[in-house]
Amino acid sequence: MKYIKKKLTIENVKVDYIAKKYGTPAYCYSYSKLKRNIVNFKNNFRSFSPLICFAVKSNTNVNLIREIKKLGLGADVVSMGELMVAVKAGINPKKIVFSGVGKTAEEINYAINKKIFLINAESESEINQIEKIAKLKRKKIKVGIRLNPNTDAKTLNQISTGKKENKFGINSKTFVKLVNKYKKSKNIELKCLSVHIGSQILDHKPYEKMLKSILKILKKVEYKFEFIDLGGGMGISYNDRQKKLDYGKYHLAIKKFLSNYKSKIIFEPGRSIIGNTGTLVSKIIYIKKSGKKKFIILDAAMNDLMRPALYGAIHNIIPSIKKAKISKQNHEFVGPICESTDSFLTLKKFQELRENELIVICDVGAYGTSLGSNYNLRPKPIELLINGSKVKIIKKRQKHKDFI
Ligand SMILES: *Cc1c(COP(=O)(O)O)cnc(C)c1O
Repeated sequence: MKYIKKKLTIENVKVDYIAKKYGTPAYCYSYSKLKRNIVNFKNNFRSFSPLICFAVKSNTNVNLIREIKKLGLGADVVSMGELMVAVKAGINPKKIVFSGVGKTAEEINYAINKKIFLINAESESEINQIEKIAKLKRKKIKVGIRLNPNTDAKTLNQISTGKKENKFGINSKTFVKLVNKYKKSKNIELKCLSVHIGSQILDHKPYEKMLKSILKILKKVEYKFEFIDLGGGMGISYNDRQKKLDYGKYHLAIKKFLSNYKSKIIFEPGRSIIGNTGTLVSKIIYIKKSGKKKFIILDAAMNDLMRPALYGAIHNIIPSIKKAKISKQNHEFVGPICESTDSFLTLKKFQELRENELIVICDVGAYGTSLGSNYNLRPKPIELLINGSKVKIIKKRQKHKDFI
């Protein structure tokens, strides 16, 4: 996004034009950014050619996943619905891994029938269940075991998943027990050790610690895993002040790991692929003054973008047309929903705003639409993919009749 003659543009398309033609709120994705993110991600880890599986839960739009597939990625899914979307988008099942703490028998059956690459089991009961189903089907199923490495990802508590108090993965003691139980199984092929310690990680050190715990446990088991799945979690900059994840250092740590344990690497990135490609264009419905504060009431709300309400996440807000005049007051950008948490951001100053003007909420590509709902019976916004001067509708705006 950049301002051309003070007008905000996404690739070559003006935000004003988008709002006029397609209405608001509107989710807009930049194809060039998506492509660049994927190329960069691959380049960062080129020396060991990992299998990169896009974490579908970060964005479930089938048309976006189709583009991601064309750019060479597989998929990491956490439900039958996500597996269906990945298959529909044309992702080769040989590049699909299935994670999640509560896969039902129906979901496991479906995954086996689709012949996906890997099911990452997250408990003893689950791996027992997979064995039971595999036996009935007289098949040998490729399974990964998700280790809980008890590593603090140093991210928001709500999106941390690798500490022992989190529900994810299997502790080291049970891990060793399960490897011994299943290493000679007729129906389970232990293919992979997997981890995922959390999301929006900006420091490489938790990853270094995670790799150390993996090595430690690998030394305890007498079994050679062909694959090590390191999960995703790579953070992005939601503002200029935030530090950036040092991919070079993460890469080095993995190289060191591989010199101790020769294996193939899997990644499951979501946010780092799609996060900064998306923006939410919204119109100001009303401006309400209250004491020294201005409420900027938008036509986008927490049902469209849940992250600020759900975990206090910060998304920058910028105007669609730049003006020189600044208003030095607290500006609280809120949605129309009947919840006090339906508030996106408060800024100490902002340019002078008027009703009916447009603003843009930045970096909403990951966990934006996929966390969306119809709360307050609000229809879900339109989704657009922008490539150069071309705008393509990749999801129609929902109509009330779609759910009433
Ligand atoms: C959510 C999730 C991911 C993706 O995390 P990002 O922070 O979006 O990269 C990867 N793997 C698993 C198992 C997940 O649950």
